[in-house]
Amino acid sequence: MLSGIQPTSGSFHLGNYLGAVRQWVDLQEQNDAFYMVVDLHAITVEQDPATLRENTRVSVAQLLGAGLDPERCTLFVQSHVPEHAQLGWVMNCLTGFGEAARMTQFKDKSSKQGTDRTSVGLFTYPILQIADILLYQADAVPVGEDQRQHVELTRDLAERFNTRYAPTFTVPKPYILKATAKIQDLQDPSAKMSKSASSPKGLVSLLDDPKVSAKKFKSAVTDTDTVVTYDEENKVGVSNLLRIHSALSGQSVEQLVAHFEGKMYGALKTELAELFTEWVLPFQERTKTYLDDPAELDRVLGLGAEKAREVASRTLATVYDRIGFLAPK
Ligand code: ATP
Ligand code: MG
Repeated sequence: MLSGIQPTSGSFHLGNYLGAVRQWVDLQEQNDAFYMVVDLHAITVEQDPATLRENTRVSVAQLLGAGLDPERCTLFVQSHVPEHAQLGWVMNCLTGFGEAARMTQFKDKSSKQGTDRTSVGLFTYPILQIADILLYQADAVPVGEDQRQHVELTRDLAERFNTRYAPTFTVPKPYILKATAKIQDLQDPSAKMSKSASSPKGLVSLLDDPKVSAKKFKSAVTDTDTVVTYDEENKVGVSNLLRIHSALSGQSVEQLVAHFEGKMYGALKTELAELFTEWVLPFQERTKTYLDDPAELDRVLGLGAEKAREVASRTLATVYDRIGFLAPK
């Protein structure tokens, strides 16, 4: 298993947790799992240095707070393992320009800000992500739906390298849980909740005061109907709230629809706010204990980087050899 999260803002949001991080925690039990805070990806958009450093620590603390255990998985910061950038370059040279230009996330992000304000790094970030995954010979990549296309590209590139040179890379599969693959923005339920694109009111940040998040749930955009039913096409807002409730409560959507029969949207929103608060308070407390102990955080990251480099350097050495780079003597 391999996956990563950007330290682009201090707090993760509910989509990050339900769509990705929660699966990471489950998957660390039975698998050899590598999880990282991808700071190299974060600089594809402008970052203030002090803020980036702080957000990287806060991100690691949240991963630990969510339940990642450095004894059970390898947790590290991407820039601590230089092989990512090195294999990234190789992958850049194997990827077609047109192929990269078809990535819909790039098209979305760049069209919003115009090509002159868009970095070349943002264009090639899916290719660095290919390197992230292939370095560890990952079988599966637990991510949200928005990353499916990038994992597909990773598969293509792994196969291309294996065919052109020699079997070298495991061809990875996306690991995407349908129920939580796309948590929507509470104010614009046609868009995914996003660190960079959501309006503050549409974004449930895990480190906010739960009272603030409760208000956001209560003012979530729904529709003019009042009956709580699941309909992904015509009732996107309510369906999103039902999926979140289901993920947090463990009840199926069908059970919830029966439970809310005869009640209005307000009842669903209130219950959701309570459920979220109940889950998030202990998460915040655990995160804080890690933030209050920087020496322990550094120790965990030092260990993680060492374990990651061991695997990554082996893969890179094989790749360099297969490509025909002269080995240093
Ligand atoms: P940005 O908008 O800056 O890209 P982001 O919110 O997408 O930020 P990332 O760090 O890029 O956050 O993504 C981390 C993980 O969270 C990825 O696996 C991604 O697929 C997943 N994810 C992000 N948003 C959602 C969402 N709304 N629902 C489910 N999963 C999500
Ligand atoms: Mg993203």
